[in-house]
Amino acid sequence: MRIYNTMSKKKEEFVPITSGEVKMYVCGPTVYNFFHIGNARTFIIFDTVRRYFEYKGYKVKFIQNFTDIDDRMINKANEDGITIKELGDKFISEYYKDADGLNIERATVNPRATEYIDDIIEFVQELINKGYAYEIDGDVYYSTQKFQDYGKLSGQNLDELKSGVRINVDERKKDPMDFAIWKGKKEGEPSWKSPWGEGRPGWHIECSCMAHDLLGDTIDIHAGGMDLVFPHHENEIAQSEGRTGKTFANYWMHAAYLNVNNKKMSKSLNNFLTARDALKKFDSEVIRLLMLSAHYRTQLNYSIDLLEASKTSLERLYNSLDNLESLKEASNTEKLNDKEVEYIKKLDSYKQKYIEKMDDDFNTADAISIIFDLIKEINVNVNADFSKEALQYAIDLIKDLGTPLGILQKSTKSSLEDEIEELIEKRQEARKNKNFKLADEIRDDLKAKGITLLDTPQGVRWKKA
Ligand code: AMP
Ligand code: ZN
Repeated sequence: MRIYNTMSKKKEEFVPITSGEVKMYVCGPTVYNFFHIGNARTFIIFDTVRRYFEYKGYKVKFIQNFTDIDDRMINKANEDGITIKELGDKFISEYYKDADGLNIERATVNPRATEYIDDIIEFVQELINKGYAYEIDGDVYYSTQKFQDYGKLSGQNLDELKSGVRINVDERKKDPMDFAIWKGKKEGEPSWKSPWGEGRPGWHIECSCMAHDLLGDTIDIHAGGMDLVFPHHENEIAQSEGRTGKTFANYWMHAAYLNVNNKKMSKSLNNFLTARDALKKFDSEVIRLLMLSAHYRTQLNYSIDLLEASKTSLERLYNSLDNLESLKEASNTEKLNDKEVEYIKKLDSYKQKYIEKMDDDFNTADAISIIFDLIKEINVNVNADFSKEALQYAIDLIKDLGTPLGILQKSTKSSLEDEIEELIEKRQEARKNKNFKLADEIRDDLKAKGITLLDTPQGVRWKKA
């Protein structure tokens, strides 16, 4: 597999630290609000990266943090008259609702910055001891001059960076590029006791600290949105490599931004949309298909028209699956014949092409095209003369290619029918046992799925509402 590494600005062969395992850290949301569809794109992209590694048989340790202490958290908590803990709790639980809604797999661990304060303090102290950081009036700054490689990720050196800095920088800093890793307490801010007085951690230190605690000195992949290259990830490297003297992450992946109606999303342009808003109107798989329809390193535009188009595309895929299910029901033969064994090899060649695309820096855009090519092939050449086994093979193959993308995972026609029949049987059983509560629950459950039950003299029938 090849991954574009922001550090080398090249695609590189992926070689894991431990064979068969991927240690991955993705910068997560600040939990002061519902996450927006821009965040959703980045989360879906790295969820897909993770799923693809799993698809290839890797065991993935996937860490995504919750930033639950920073200016945005403090301001919002003050506005709402609640503590940052209450604010964090609320939006972490909302995060899970929306992320689950988007078929985003749960991380191995979602660490919260405020749960790592002791470790962060220890980290800061170590950087001071090693001469990488200095304290002034209760603040602790990272001394960028001390870290020789500062700027290596964003491809700038300190002088170039400094020329871009505004003049009114904090005069107490040794260098304008130095950044706070510990911030002394200000009035009205939450704080923790530390050797430098009461205060709170800076933003960059939390990721260095939690990545280290949960994944070790060196990790395989560090990822986030493109905006994080500088200064966030640059600063994480300075902190982590300053502390351990080892490479922090072997591969740096960055996802390009999502625009809305071809403009940057912002509250003032009134084109700000939460993932939840999008999920109210569109199915999660439709949203994922759109988000993955462009390569992750190219910007993607979001609009209702594009979502509608993506919905139509997804329907084409599901129609094809439904058609295969119907053919399977109609088929009179069970087992594969020799001709079909050959034909299946042809179908498998699409899987090979799909894997080539995904192996090439997760080219989901081309991988999706391959799924459509496969569907076209099947729609033209597969019919009811095929055996049930061959038809099932085609169904499984299509669904298999959808797995890393988190699409095509829903029940298709016949499996849905099986599910309904099963529930009806369970309800009959419940009624026989006079468990009317359960029977009613099953009826309601079916109703929620749009299924109405009709008690007829011939037994229970059902229809789709
Ligand atoms: P934040 O909560 O702003 O710290 O962002 C959480 C994640 O979403 C980070 O990886 C950001 O880089 C990413 N992100 C923020 N805005 C966008 C956007 N418009 N498009 C894509 N990713 C974004
Ligand atoms: Zn981070």
